[in-house]
Amino acid sequence: MKPLSPAKLRALWSRLTRTYFPRWRNAARWRVRLRPDGPWTDSSGRGHSKDEAGYCDQKKREISVNASCVHEIRSILLHEAVHAVVCEYHAIRFCQRMLRLGKRAEKLEDWELARELREDVRRYPLWMAADELLRNGMIKR
Ligand SMILES: [Zn+2]
Repeated sequence: MKPLSPAKLRALWSRLTRTYFPRWRNAARWRVRLRPDGPWTDSSGRGHSKDEAGYCDQKKREISVNASCVHEIRSILLHEAVHAVVCEYHAIRFCQRMLRLGKRAEKLEDWELARELREDVRRYPLWMAADELLRNGMIKR
């Protein structure tokens, strides 16, 4: 795994949010940081398991990612961004936004990212219902 400097992570975050969340002006005010590769406790005293790939702290506007995990870093950042702007749970609106991000990645011919996003969202039970709603055009956003 390539080491990722805080500056590179920051640049990646700006690029991704500009491309995938063009109307989210406050994205620039969020902090992104690498978390330790192991169990850790955040500054609010909340414990996190070693296996957690990313974490979105709404109050502090801070996203922590584990760069050593198996998932691609861009898909983790986008996953946490969806938590930040849409919903803190993996509920239907979360799934819909993830599916839409995947479609956008396909449009941009970023097949690798599209695949990662699809694999991620399919871990959540509501993804199929979300997909059906999108296909039927019942929920636009
Ligand atoms: Zn999540």
